[in-house]
Amino acid sequence: CGIVAAVGSNNIIPLLIDGLKKLEYRGYDSTGVGYLTANHEVAAERSLERVAQLEAQINTKQLAAQVGVAHTRWATHGAPALRNAHPMVSNSKGVSLCLVHNGIIENHDEIRTELLEAGYTFTSETDTEVMTHLIHQYCVSGLDLYEAVYQASKRLKGLYAIAVMRAEEPHHIVGARHGAPLLIGVGERGNYLASDTSALLSETRQVVYLEDGDVVEICLDAYRIRTADGSFVERDVHESELSA
Ligand code: GLU
Repeated sequence: CGIVAAVGSNNIIPLLIDGLKKLEYRGYDSTGVGYLTANHEVAAERSLERVAQLEAQINTKQLAAQVGVAHTRWATHGAPALRNAHPMVSNSKGVSLCLVHNGIIENHDEIRTELLEAGYTFTSETDTEVMTHLIHQYCVSGLDLYEAVYQASKRLKGLYAIAVMRAEEPHHIVGARHGAPLLIGVGERGNYLASDTSALLSETRQVVYLEDGDVVEICLDAYRIRTADGSFVERDVHESELSA
């Protein structure tokens, strides 16, 4: 299971696909890419085949995007099936989200029950969809995406690394890390999130390691890191010595 996400000045789809190929070794049940269209709508492509097949599927459509999230899945909740492949989308009431997740949400049953009572419908059996709708609910209540993910992180128990984007806030991606790996890649042509530095080497070697409890925002030319206690922090940028 692995995540790669990008906000770039150029088309980031090739970087996401290349990153997924590097992450394929981490586990493989399905793969998917979510992106913002030129009209600032959320769209996704998913596949139960290998990343190469997803790439072919994407190439036939000649997709291009500057903001996107991508995932390889190792199923823990819900069978390996297309309906359970990430990204998960939550789109209603003027809020449109797209999220990828590595890890396990332990209190998903309890939160799913609350969300069902609040009128949410579920199209997958994943714990990830529960998290997606929970963040959506915070956005509908008036929070921006960064604050919504921060509030959701207070409710979620378990292990996770996520990357999520929102159609109504097309300039950034929000990530969070709690017990599963996630780092920021700082590039010349954008900023990135990934489970592992290897996924970003085609674009940058400059990485910022995140800590458990961090909620981060990446934009084209900036990023911010907020710790579990709510304060914003600066972290060192490291030069990766991995070979591509
Ligand atoms: N628990 C999630 C699922 O089963 C994420 C699994 C993963 O880490 O890939 O969909």
